[in-house]
Amino acid sequence: MADMNQQNQALATVDGGSDNPFFQDWSGRFGVPPFDRIKPEHFRAAFAHAFAEHEAEVAAIAADPAAPTFANTIEALELSGDALARVDDVFHALSGAHTNDAILEIEREIAPLTAQHWNKILMDEALFRRVETLYRERDRFALTAEQRRVLERYHLKLTRAGAALDPASKQRLAAITERLASLGTAFSQNVLADEQSYVLVLDGEADLAGLPDFLRAAAREAAEERGLPGKHAITLARSSVEPFLQFSSRRDLREKALRAWIARGDGGGETDNKALIAEMVALRAERARLLGYPTFAHYRLDDAMAKTPEAVRGLLDRVWAPARAGALADRDAMQAIVQAEGGNFELAAWDWRYYAGLLRKARCDLDEATVKPYFQLDRIIEAAFHTANRLFGLSFERLDGIPVWHQDVRVWEVRDAARRHRGLFFGDYFARSSKHSGAWMTTLRDQQKLEGDIRPLVVNVMNFSKAGEGGPTLLSFDDAKTLFHEFGHALHALVSDVTYPLISGTNVLTDWVELPSQLYEHWLQRPEILREFAVHCDTGEPIPENLLRRLLDARTFNQGFATVEYLASALVDLDVHSQPDAENFDITHFEQASLARIGMPAEIVMRHRPTHFAHVFAGNSYASAYYSYMWSEVMDADAFAAFEEAGDVFDARTAASLRDNVYAAGGSRDPAELYTAFRGRLPTPDALLRRRGLSELTG
Ligand SMILES: [Zn+2]
Repeated sequence: MADMNQQNQALATVDGGSDNPFFQDWSGRFGVPPFDRIKPEHFRAAFAHAFAEHEAEVAAIAADPAAPTFANTIEALELSGDALARVDDVFHALSGAHTNDAILEIEREIAPLTAQHWNKILMDEALFRRVETLYRERDRFALTAEQRRVLERYHLKLTRAGAALDPASKQRLAAITERLASLGTAFSQNVLADEQSYVLVLDGEADLAGLPDFLRAAAREAAEERGLPGKHAITLARSSVEPFLQFSSRRDLREKALRAWIARGDGGGETDNKALIAEMVALRAERARLLGYPTFAHYRLDDAMAKTPEAVRGLLDRVWAPARAGALADRDAMQAIVQAEGGNFELAAWDWRYYAGLLRKARCDLDEATVKPYFQLDRIIEAAFHTANRLFGLSFERLDGIPVWHQDVRVWEVRDAARRHRGLFFGDYFARSSKHSGAWMTTLRDQQKLEGDIRPLVVNVMNFSKAGEGGPTLLSFDDAKTLFHEFGHALHALVSDVTYPLISGTNVLTDWVELPSQLYEHWLQRPEILREFAVHCDTGEPIPENLLRRLLDARTFNQGFATVEYLASALVDLDVHSQPDAENFDITHFEQASLARIGMPAEIVMRHRPTHFAHVFAGNSYASAYYSYMWSEVMDADAFAAFEEAGDVFDARTAASLRDNVYAAGGSRDPAELYTAFRGRLPTPDALLRRRGLSELTG
């Protein structure tokens, strides 16, 4: 592809100077990228150099005159592309967690170039022939189980990228992949722009009605960060807008905040995502057709535990009816409160969280403002570390002086029970306007043993509202679960013990990857953890026993709502990608029709509406795979029961088996095989329904 080389040359003319950290050795001090010296202007040259280097490495593998062997082909591929992985990981850390105009611009430029680069490699004729030969003759080679899996994954990866297609189809598929990369970048930048440009300024005591101290402090801090010192501001970060919707007694302001929140990417104008979605959905359908699948969902799920759209729909449908019934019963109970208060209105979407708070207080004798002072960010981080210590023998030591991308980022060295270095963990916890919304885990380097004992550099990014000057940052119970969730992903990368990068850590199937994260949330919800780490921010007193009991009993409260808002997103995602043809696709109409078909309660909004559904449209990894959380939940509910059955949630034998078969195993074996090795069988959805308190309900 000549035009790619031209573009690479164009890129290379920009700052390839010797002060560019990407052309220097970083292997000292744990191999941490020198964030203090990396500037946006370094990326263009670094990418251009990395693309060219990787291309030359792969060309040499493909042109090797020797007959293909695992070592000269698969291992050689695994050893290639180091420079690209390095610049890519650093760039994505910044573009996700601390972006700016220069990085946004480079992101738009690099996305299609990256797609072009990978197209060229993954569709390379000679390379595919070598891999195909190895794959066909795989029984002839003395491969370890892990090597066999890596070979099979490479073969599948190339096939799914179109390596076996005729030249014309390859060309069309390559164009689709490039275009999708640009569209995904534009989608996520539009959402970010809508989040950055909106703030609900609260002016005076009347606007603050109902807001507890922690929320006022966070709103003051958010206003300060947005250049509005002395005011209070609600932003579209979940940890800002959700508590506002829960506490504000100003119905008019709740409506304003909710409408802004759910209109992200749907506001008309330059940052509207609807046309992008239409194009993406059509291109994905075409991609699937070219590769011989009836729909994108069939293509996507063929490489997942679920295997087929029917299997996914079966699970989602089974849970939908009881979830909806539970939500409607709660809605009626809340409408009764509205009536009793003399409110002359029908409960609306902006009322749900507020009245759910009142209903929870009535039913469970529990309110968020009482609970929150017991959930200090720093103590919950300690709780996550403590749990990792009890389960896997890991310890965490705070490190200073490690270069990071923002002053709020903290770094810990991770050691195992024998005090051996296992990697570094970076925690970036606070919301800021340079950060995309949501919470995620990523790596700056993956564990592997092919190039020596390479230890991982693992990152958690969250969007908690920072407390004002000097005060401890307080979390909701849900925030604390998010912290444990992302830390579970981090452990999957930190505990990883495989040889090959392709299947290291979280490089696994999407409907398996949420198991280590969701499973980890269970330990936060154990009395033995909460007694020690849920201590009051002012008095230092542990959470009182009866509050603890009420908190845990309340876990099934409002689960109808939580399940419905999640499932609606998962079902719409599946529906959108189940169309054989998506010409003239109109997402507004489609969303309405899809929700009408499932009987979506009018008072509940999908957890992610399509126009800001980053999982599905900001990239391709969760497209028609948002169901993965529930698929993994079927397993996590059942997996945690193994500890309960052992009579100890830290049972050493169960923990060792969990480490070996789940957290350390990466993608070294088929996930169903890994799960069975841990549990002796595959699970059914019953434990999930019980945990959500939905097993007694029917639609
Ligand atoms: Zn996750």
